[in-house]
Amino acid sequence: DKITNYVNQYGKPFFSLEFFPPRNETELESFWPLLDQLKQGNPLFMDITWHSRSSLDPNNHCSSLAIAGSTLKQLNHETVLHLTCYDYDITTLESILNSAKSLGLRNILALRGDVPASNQDENKVFNGLSNSKSDQIIKSNNFLDKLTCALDLVKFIKTKYGDFFTIGVAGYPMGHPEAKTYSDDLNYLKSKVDAGADFIVTQLSFSADQYISFIKDCHAIGIKVPIIPGIFPIQTKASIRNISKLTKIDPPNEVKKSIEACKGDIEAIKKYGLQHAVDLCKKLISSDVNIPGLHFYTLNRDNCVTEILKQLNLWNPRSDYEESIMAGDIQNSPL
Ligand code: FAD
Repeated sequence: DKITNYVNQYGKPFFSLEFFPPRNETELESFWPLLDQLKQGNPLFMDITWHSRSSLDPNNHCSSLAIAGSTLKQLNHETVLHLTCYDYDITTLESILNSAKSLGLRNILALRGDVPASNQDENKVFNGLSNSKSDQIIKSNNFLDKLTCALDLVKFIKTKYGDFFTIGVAGYPMGHPEAKTYSDDLNYLKSKVDAGADFIVTQLSFSADQYISFIKDCHAIGIKVPIIPGIFPIQTKASIRNISKLTKIDPPNEVKKSIEACKGDIEAIKKYGLQHAVDLCKKLISSDVNIPGLHFYTLNRDNCVTEILKQLNLWNPRSDYEESIMAGDIQNSPL
């Protein structure tokens, strides 16, 4: 509802940018200049990802919490903090959320996180619990010691913090790789929304048609919250290889062939990646599913994000409405 008000006033799709926290002092040096530069385009919000390696030490200025807190306070920019639940017990999760709250962070992307292959059977058992026994436990405000899926994290946040946090969840245009079927995964996504998620950010896809049919399928089962496509601009052969390994998404043959045709020419691959992303985004923006915005996985590089946004006329368009939000209370989440 809050984002719908915003989008109606905004008049055209917004964009948001995702970063991971710097892993060391060298990465930290270039991190803030990069965010400062990309801020000039007026993203609606910036996401800081969560990693199980992320330190919970309050003195660590490179933890997800510290970086998200600084993005909000020092950079003065609306921030979404990602949080995965799989690695933590609920006492730890509560202390992370309390810290986020005291840093003024009000938007959380609630995730399970990746489960090591060796634990996946155990996780299935927990997923089963999540639909039955843990539901009853959650209703009585007593959580199992460990939350093992994003649905339970959404319920946990809602139960403990009410409407304080705006909650986002992940959606998968191809279905999550561990899901039995695409429609199982879709119904499960609906249960995350029914439990209180306010918006969805999607996994990357290389095909506009795939995003569009996923969004239509979501609408068909009654998902009404904003669904923001996650865009991964292709920039190098290695980045495609790495992201495919991480997400288990195989790029379509057409993309593979186009990259092969570049014969290792770095500039040609970049040029192709730029055009591919621009075409994909244009198709999404002009589709009839009314996407509220585009979310870019930056991998902490400008890559071609600025250029893509310029070509889409999305770089820097700040409406009067947005000006008034930004000039007012930054904690008034546009989501
Ligand atoms: P869940 O929503 O819990 O789903 C996981 C799987 O379990 C799905 O197959 C789902 O269908 C199934 N499942 C779970 N519970 C049930 C149930 N009760 N009934 C039926 N099926 C069920 N990872 C990080 O470590 N840090 C990040 O910051 C991060 N950010 C991300 C941002 C986005 C936009 C996306 C798309 C992914 C991100 N990830 C991140 C990766 C994410 O952690 C993995 O994809 C992970 O494998 C699943 O997380 P999830 O929140 O989607 O899990």
